[in-house]
Amino acid sequence: MKPASFEYHRAHDVAEVVELLVELGDDAKIIAGGQSLAPMMNFRLARPSALVDVNPVSGLDYIRREGDLLRIGAMTRHRDVEISRDPEVHDGFAVLPRAARWIGHYPIRCRGTVGGSMAHSDPTAEWCLLALLHDASVVVQGPRGQRTVPVAEWFTGFLTTSGEYDEMVVETQFARPRAYGALTEYARRRGDFAISAVGVAFDKVDNRLTDVSVVLGGVAGVPVRATEAEAMLEGSPATPETWVAASRNAAASVNPPSDLNGDGDYRRQLVETLMQRAFVEALAEGARR
Ligand SMILES: Cc1cc2nc3c(=O)[nH]c(=O)nc-3n(C[C@H](O)[C@H](O)[C@H](O)COP(=O)(O)OP(=O)(O)OC[C@H]3O[C@@H](n4cnc5c(N)ncnc54)[C@H](O)[C@@H]3O)c2cc1C
Repeated sequence: MKPASFEYHRAHDVAEVVELLVELGDDAKIIAGGQSLAPMMNFRLARPSALVDVNPVSGLDYIRREGDLLRIGAMTRHRDVEISRDPEVHDGFAVLPRAARWIGHYPIRCRGTVGGSMAHSDPTAEWCLLALLHDASVVVQGPRGQRTVPVAEWFTGFLTTSGEYDEMVVETQFARPRAYGALTEYARRRGDFAISAVGVAFDKVDNRLTDVSVVLGGVAGVPVRATEAEAMLEGSPATPETWVAASRNAAASVNPPSDLNGDGDYRRQLVETLMQRAFVEALAEGARR
């Protein structure tokens, strides 16, 4: 399939991107890695009248630690995070490089961007789950200036965000570093989007779990926090009994949709299994460091 015709513009800095978005109106779209937008255009699921190519914009591909914040520039490719050996990333955010390897296939990871993924906001996208897991904020720039949106307010529905048509995502700020973290998922074929996914992050004091986050993907139109399960886990001993009980609670707390990839009950059962695996993996990886 080929896309419908469109105008093509290249922008060289963020100000030019914003100017073009304002001028072209809400039928125009930014194209970054093109790994979601191009297939959607080819299938005619998206028919933008114009594309603003942001690949020439420099200065937005970085991974920077500032205190408890890990700042990732919008044009950072998935692969750049996957292969990062920076101790500032691994100390508290080690789940990010480990989870990035689950994104699609190698060429997709070399091309697709973190900002593009946050803007596209697929409910099983690794970056969206990791953002919720780490209480991230999305920084956007538009004609009214820059604003920082907490991720809980960013995802508003399936493939929908609170970003405006004339704003560009410029950075994602991951917060709340923790010693233990894992993202587990199940897809029929390696490289496919997950049917269900679970992310966990926590610290451990005297063998008790603290500062616990649990996020679930593929169970609703947006990634969700398993808040009741988090409360059960907080302060509990780091034993299989603890996370088996909490994973049952997390699975029971969701009502996933059914589609060709699996019915709601199947996704719920996956959540239970994946969450238990996530705790085992997080503890094993944490002990290795
Ligand atoms: C076969 C296949 C398998 C895949 N598997 C996975 C997977 O397992 N997990 C996963 O997470 N992803 C997967 N993807 C998608 C991939 O990760 C994309 O790279 C990602 O979803 C979007 O990033 P992009 O830079 O390619 O964005 P694009 O495709 O260029 O854009 C996507 C959307 O975001 C908007 N956009 C892009 N950048 C910005 C910005 N800076 N500011 C505002 N709006 C912006 C665009 O206008 C468009 O609406 C897969 C893709 C394919 C083709």
